[in-house]
Amino acid sequence: MDESTLRAETDLIRQIESLLDDPAYTENPLREPLARLFEMSEGQRERLERLVRIADGYHQISRERSETLSEQYDRQLRRLEKLARISDRYQNSLRELSEALKAAALQDPLTGLGNRRYLMERLKEETERAERKQTPYSLIILDVDHFKLVNDRYGHEVGDQVLCEIAKAIRSGLREYDLCGRWGGEEFLVILPDTLLESARPVAERVRLAIKSIEPAAAFAPDVSARMSGFELSASLGLSTHRRGESYEETLNRSDEALRRAKEAGRDQVQVD
Ligand code: GH3
Ligand code: MG
Ligand code: MG
Repeated sequence: MDESTLRAETDLIRQIESLLDDPAYTENPLREPLARLFEMSEGQRERLERLVRIADGYHQISRERSETLSEQYDRQLRRLEKLARISDRYQNSLRELSEALKAAALQDPLTGLGNRRYLMERLKEETERAERKQTPYSLIILDVDHFKLVNDRYGHEVGDQVLCEIAKAIRSGLREYDLCGRWGGEEFLVILPDTLLESARPVAERVRLAIKSIEPAAAFAPDVSARMSGFELSASLGLSTHRRGESYEETLNRSDEALRRAKEAGRDQVQVD
């Protein structure tokens, strides 16, 4: 409603009010219907004003609500982003943790080499590959000679250190792609992928010599190396090459058999089966 209409309306209301109040018109037959009409019109106006107030209130509330909603939305969004970041970090550390766990489950804690489980997995893989590609792998089982003596003479702790040095020596004799691990106790396994017997033999010899060349003076603390002076470390090795159609257990058994013969023949040597 614009201002002039409003003014005209106010004037009209005033005019009607003064007409109705004027005693000169008390007896006028039109006064009564005018008074009723005026009353009704005032009633309508009040109702209308009330409606407008309600509508305005509604509008206000809904604006406030929508502001609150958008604020809430922003807040939720920020919260979600934060949660996503936390969840990313959480997932990353979960992944790292599970990878570390998986690695730990396959690692020998003393020497850091692969453990028996790791070796079994690699053996299965290598056997499948050997069958598929018709390229045999070779297998060395290595047992430290008279290791019980090391423990008995120098103690279990020195025995542990010796095992770590032996693990290093084995690695030093291998090629980049050879796999090795601790089979158990003082026994180690070496898998030479894609390697025929004639190429495997020199690798086994290198490993044997590397163990013989362990220098206690260089490898151990002075007190230990002093006590160990004169003690020669050595190992016996059994070597075999996977035969077509053979399970890895069969290849392993032949390596074991070769190792037994190496021990029998006086230790510190490589035997082949
Ligand atoms: P052989 O030349 O016939 O193999 O003699 P050996 O003394 O090496 O063989 P034997 O099987 O009699 O002894 C193996 C010893 O290795 C016995 C065991 O206490 C020791 N041993 C096995 N695992 C560990 C280990 O983790 N740490 C230490 N210090 N000793 C171990
Ligand atoms: Mg043994
Ligand atoms: Mg032994």
